[in-house]
Formats: sequence, structure tokens, C-alpha cells
Amino acid sequence: MKTIAVIAHDGRKADMVGFLKDHIAVFRQVRLVATGTTGQYAQKAGFAVDLKLSGPLGGDAQIAAMVAEHQLDAVFFFRDPLGKHPHEPDVQMLMRLCDLHDVPLATNPATAGYVIKGMFPDAARAEG
Ligand code: PGA
Repeated sequence: MKTIAVIAHDGRKADMVGFLKDHIAVFRQVRLVATGTTGQYAQKAGFAVDLKLSGPLGGDAQIAAMVAEHQLDAVFFFRDPLGKHPHEPDVQMLMRLCDLHDVPLATNPATAGYVIKGMFPDAARAEG
């Protein structure tokens, strides 16, 4: 089973929930890991999620550590390009480690959609 981490800044959480719902067939066959608040939104939408700490409290850093330990197959991190965040150093660390360990990292729904199609070609075809 593939493991995917999902993280969304506050301005992008609705987009993330919409993305999960749009690809529900795929996310049913995936282990989902998420930062705290993003994960709670996903849980409310009916998804099973392993919750990490909230991003500003270290959740991004926890997910970065999973990347470094090769526990993740992809990271979907919908960042808010208009906001400033106190945990920006953790965000940079997460992106750096994805690049270092060659883990697919999508920072917007369009890219995440292509990653899904690449990882699950059969499910993507079924969804059209
Ligand atoms: P959150 O963290 O899911 O706990 O809001 C996301 C982030 O800001 O990195």
C-alpha cells in the first residue's frame, strides 16, 4: 500500500478536501498521513488519516522526517502563496528533503492530479 502525506495551509484546506473527494477511489487504497488540522478536515470528510502534529507545532517537520526515512511515496503540500507562516523554515526543510530523496512533491492540485495519474494509472482511468 502506498503512503501519501497531505498538508494544506489554511487558505488551501478547502482545496485539499475537494482534491481528496475528487480522487476518492484512489485515496481509499492509500495510507494517508497529514498534519493535524489538515488531517482533521480530511477525517471530517470521511477519510482515514494518521494525524501528525499541527504544522506550526512541528507537523511539517515530522513529515519531513518520514521523507528522510523513505516512509512516504508522495507529499501533497498545498501551500498558500499569499500567506506568511511562522514555520517557514520547516516548510523549506520538507521541500528540500523531498528533493534530496527524490520523493514526488506536489504543491498545487493540478500537479497532484498528474502525480496521482502516474501512481495509479488504472484508478485514474476509471475516474476519467
Ligand atoms: P495544519 O498544518 O494542517 O496543522 O494546519 C499545515 C501547515 O500549516 O503546514
